[in-house]
Amino acid sequence: MVQTPPFPLLENAPVSTLIREESSCWDADNGIFTVRGCYKAISTQYDPINKKKWSTMWKLNIPRKVKVFAWQACSGCLPTADHLRSRRVDCQYCCSMCQSEEETTSHLFINCSFAKECWDLSGIPVSTSVFPSFEFWVDHHVAMLDKDQCRLLLLICWRIWLARNNKIWNNKITTSRRLVEATKLFLADWNSALEQASSIANTRLPVIRK
Ligand SMILES: [Zn+2]
Repeated sequence: MVQTPPFPLLENAPVSTLIREESSCWDADNGIFTVRGCYKAISTQYDPINKKKWSTMWKLNIPRKVKVFAWQACSGCLPTADHLRSRRVDCQYCCSMCQSEEETTSHLFINCSFAKECWDLSGIPVSTSVFPSFEFWVDHHVAMLDKDQCRLLLLICWRIWLARNNKIWNNKITTSRRLVEATKLFLADWNSALEQASSIANTRLPVIRK
C-alpha cells in the first residue's frame, strides 16, 4: 500500500460494491510499499542465487566496463544477430566469427568454433556441458572457478565481443591465439596497475619537523 497525504475528494469517493473484501497486495514491510523494500524483495527473497552471483561478479577486480558488458550479456541485452532480427533490423544471420551458425549470445561465447579455440588456449577448465543459456553458463563457472579464472573468463568474453565488432565494422580479423595472449597481457597490466595504486595509497607522507 502506498502512503499518500489525505485527499478529501478521494477519501469520500464511493467504493465499488463489487468489491466485497479488502485484501492487501504488498505483504512485505508491514504492507508499506517502498522502492527500497521492493528491490530487497526482488533481489533476496525471490532470487538469492542470482544475488550471490552478482555480488561475486561485482567484487571481481576487472574494469567496470567489463562487468557492465557481462551484465548485458547475461541479461540478453547484447545486440547479437538474433536479437537484432527479432527487432526487424536487417542484419546477417550467421555468426561473423565462424560464418556457419546463427549468432546468439550462447553461440558467440560458448559454442562458436572461435570461442572454443579461445577457451582451449586460455587454460581455464571451461565446461563442455550443454547449458540452457549464457547466463547459466556464467553461473556455473562463477561457482566453480577461482577468482583469477573468473576474471580471465569474463575478460576473454569481452575480448570476443570486441573482436566480433571489429570484424563486422572494421573488417579486421583477430586470431584466437592473439586474442588470448592480449587478454592475459591486459590482465597482467591491470594487476600491476592495481598493485602500484595500492602501494601509493599505503605510502605515508614524510613528517616535516620544525
Ligand atoms: Zn560462430
